[in-house]
Amino acid sequence: MMMTRSQILQLITCNLCLGQKSLAPASSPEPTLQFHEPPSDTSQPFILDGNEKKDYYKSNPSPFGRILEGTLPSFTYRETENTLTFRDRSPKAQLHALIIPKRYIPTIKHLKPQDIDLLYEMKQEAIEILREFPSYSEKYNGEDILRKNDYILCFHVPPFNSVDHLHLHALAPKSSMNPLFSFGKYRIGTRWCTSLDEVISNLEAMTDKFTDGRNDEQAELVNHEA
Ligand SMILES: [Zn+2]
Repeated sequence: MMMTRSQILQLITCNLCLGQKSLAPASSPEPTLQFHEPPSDTSQPFILDGNEKKDYYKSNPSPFGRILEGTLPSFTYRETENTLTFRDRSPKAQLHALIIPKRYIPTIKHLKPQDIDLLYEMKQEAIEILREFPSYSEKYNGEDILRKNDYILCFHVPPFNSVDHLHLHALAPKSSMNPLFSFGKYRIGTRWCTSLDEVISNLEAMTDKFTDGRNDEQAELVNHEA
């Protein structure tokens, strides 16, 4: 049966899927509304002081800004000063977490060399949730998942991202995912999906290129072409 263009797009684009049936087990904890403390880094355009903290996310137009400010519910797995890790609204694996920066960065195309530390922090958070997820699911062995590389860490490449706020997908176990997703929507090395490590190495290459006093403020990540 031929698929329409919109059906194909629906398969490969990253969706928040507000209406889609969730694969989360029935026993999953309910999402909650929670304000997440903004980062204290004052080198950002937002100078945080007292009550201004609650307005930190006002300039973020994405649904993830609403999650961070606590007006859209989510189920939080982990939180650091700079990142939030929460359950995807439409999980495509036993564990399907999104790791986002609290600072507003729309997509991987907007990353700059100075964001490398943030990406490493996101990676660390992804590894931690891959390891500790057993506390949310009895059928899942985090150490096995890591040892066997039975997971996916990926970003969707614009325009195949549906939410314009940078989000790293962590999916596991990859081996028990529906192939439609592990070999489709979340297949690394395609035009629509790229690995965390590749994004990091591209940024590191840019860092080398832009050292020696050159202005890296204008630098944008040039993503690979599949
Ligand atoms: Zn995505």
